[in-house]
Amino acid sequence: MDIVFATHNAHKRGEVEAIMREVWPEIHLVEPTGEAPDEDGHSFGANALIKARAGFADMSIPSIADDSGICVAALGGEPGIDSAHYSGERDDVKNLELVLAKLEGESRREAEFVCAAAMVDEQGEEVVERRWPGSITHEPFGEGGFGYDPIFQPDGYEVTAAELSAEEKNTISHRGQAFRALAALLKTRYSQ
Ligand code: IMP
Repeated sequence: MDIVFATHNAHKRGEVEAIMREVWPEIHLVEPTGEAPDEDGHSFGANALIKARAGFADMSIPSIADDSGICVAALGGEPGIDSAHYSGERDDVKNLELVLAKLEGESRREAEFVCAAAMVDEQGEEVVERRWPGSITHEPFGEGGFGYDPIFQPDGYEVTAAELSAEEKNTISHRGQAFRALAALLKTRYSQ
């Protein structure tokens, strides 16, 4: 079954397709033809819906999208929906260095990754939000992953998300949980 995934990032599309196929193997994610909309919502869910609506308007087939980021308790929930450009630039190293600098001397290190995954089709709109709790390390560790992975130590682990394999991370991450939930919803709606 063809579903439009509102991203132009082919790597992300492949990763999310693999996650969703664990639940429903017939899923095939296609790229939208239109331009990416402005993400001017005030929550992860609002931004995910803006992207999913644009994909549905564009292609007239069921459309899904996500918005994600990291929320640090001692920073009042920042970077939150500004995670991708927290330092003012779309630069993973500058962004995580800013978080470490702001937490200098701070003993409260709790944080969580959040992923909202949205779906829009002719039957309506759905949003699921999933969280991955952990804490911020005092320096970066690990070479894998992206974004804030090198400074995020998931609860129950002695390593950062950047030291997990992609498969291990997908099994437990905010994104893995959210897209498995969305795949289950789609399967209920569309599988015979
Ligand atoms: P997006 O909504 O998937 O584009 O993610 C927004 C930003 O949140 C990314 O650019 C990263 O900075 C951060 N982020 C989201 N998910 C992750 C993750 O799994 N690991 C590390 N950083 C993440």
